[in-house]
Amino acid sequence: MPRYDFAIIGGGIVGLSTALALSRRESGAKILVLEKEAICARHQTGHNSGVIHSGIYYKPGSLKAKFAREGNRGLVEFCLEHGIAHEVCGKVIVATVQSELPLLEQLYQRGLENGLEVSRLTAEEVREVEPHVRCLAGVRVPSTGIVNYSRVAEKYAELFENGGGTLSPNTRVLAIRRMSVGHALETSAGVFETRFLINCAGLHSDRVAKLGQVDPKAKIVPFRGEYYELKPEKRSLVKTLIYPVPNPAFPFLGVHFTRMIDGTVHAGPNAVLSFKREGYQKTDFNLRDFAEVMFYPGFWKLAARHARDGIDEMIRSFSKTAFVRSLQRLIPEVQSEDLLPTHAGVRAQSLMNDGKLVDDFLILKGHHSIHVCNAPSPAATASLEIGKAIVEEIPSLERTLVSPSLNS
Ligand SMILES: Cc1cc2nc3c(=O)[nH]c(=O)nc-3n(C[C@H](O)[C@H](O)[C@H](O)COP(=O)(O)OP(=O)(O)OC[C@H]3O[C@@H](n4cnc5c(N)ncnc54)[C@H](O)[C@@H]3O)c2cc1C
Repeated sequence: MPRYDFAIIGGGIVGLSTALALSRRESGAKILVLEKEAICARHQTGHNSGVIHSGIYYKPGSLKAKFAREGNRGLVEFCLEHGIAHEVCGKVIVATVQSELPLLEQLYQRGLENGLEVSRLTAEEVREVEPHVRCLAGVRVPSTGIVNYSRVAEKYAELFENGGGTLSPNTRVLAIRRMSVGHALETSAGVFETRFLINCAGLHSDRVAKLGQVDPKAKIVPFRGEYYELKPEKRSLVKTLIYPVPNPAFPFLGVHFTRMIDGTVHAGPNAVLSFKREGYQKTDFNLRDFAEVMFYPGFWKLAARHARDGIDEMIRSFSKTAFVRSLQRLIPEVQSEDLLPTHAGVRAQSLMNDGKLVDDFLILKGHHSIHVCNAPSPAATASLEIGKAIVEEIPSLERTLVSPSLNS
């Protein structure tokens, strides 16, 4: 049976950044990444908005705030060092109705508390940056950028493999057997033994944690985010990134305009319950995934609290007119015929039994193991920081070999 010192389940951006950080600390260790797909980064990492977030939205002192701010800088440096196309273009958040002005001011203050460079803009100043936006006021965050996260993840993987690490695609972890030191991983490609296990399984992280006998006390609920793309001749309507003031009770940012690094402009994403964890089409359905949500008390408590928002999101999913109406609040000129449907992504959002969404990144320790049980946005931005933080929690190989009980 192949034996490894460390095994990471999940070849998304979080698993790969962890693998890279670990391989840099533990030169000579045998490190394995197990990925169920033929190619890494096929799920959340390959289906997102491609924004290098600044960290303005997150509660001061939270992991999200800290890791996004530091991750933003680290990621830009990483892209420069490795020649990955990116751009620090900044973004504007705009209030379009009077009732949003106090929330916009709160965001501005939060940006300052999180140590960011932010500036208040009048409606005229917003128009100097984004001539087609109509609003009452805005906040500009210059450190926001854009990148293709699949390219970033590919580079993490390449550096990891060049450093001696092993990537095992087409390898789905099916069961985890606890041993006195470490685990035996039963997979679709055979059994692997590891002294230490790291679960970065994204949309399946709660299930993998349970296989490893760790109860995250929360369930992953998949929220699909659907996008439209502006027709090439209408791309000039958007210069950088244009966001509305988000609903503070909701973890999603509201549909916005994003210029992607390839020059296309995307509008979205909305946030609708997906009937399949990896369900990218409206019609995708998986009985197990659907039943788990339907029989989960936390979901119904959340649904009761956000019934109005949930219905609005469903309407926006099925009605292009409603989607376009949301976008016209930002740019009145945008018309339905300017937008073509494009890709969708599914967010892995952890939800507790009491109906509260897990707000921060959630990283749990188990028997010779660490489990990343909530890593939604801005985890791609924060990936280098999350990887480093996980590795700090992992006992060094030397200590693992000398005193296995240190890990228990
Ligand atoms: C619509 C959308 C927009 C977003 N926009 C942004 C953004 O602009 N900026 C930002 O910073 N973040 C954004 N995010 C969030 C970001 O994409 C994710 O936080 C990040 O990609 C999470 O990475 P991950 O490695 O945890 O998960 P994933 O990329 O989903 O990787 C998990 C991997 O685990 C594998 N896996 C699962 N189960 C098993 C198993 N049993 N055995 C083996 N392998 C397994 C999967 O195949 C997958 O490859 C967005 C997300 C979505 C969905």
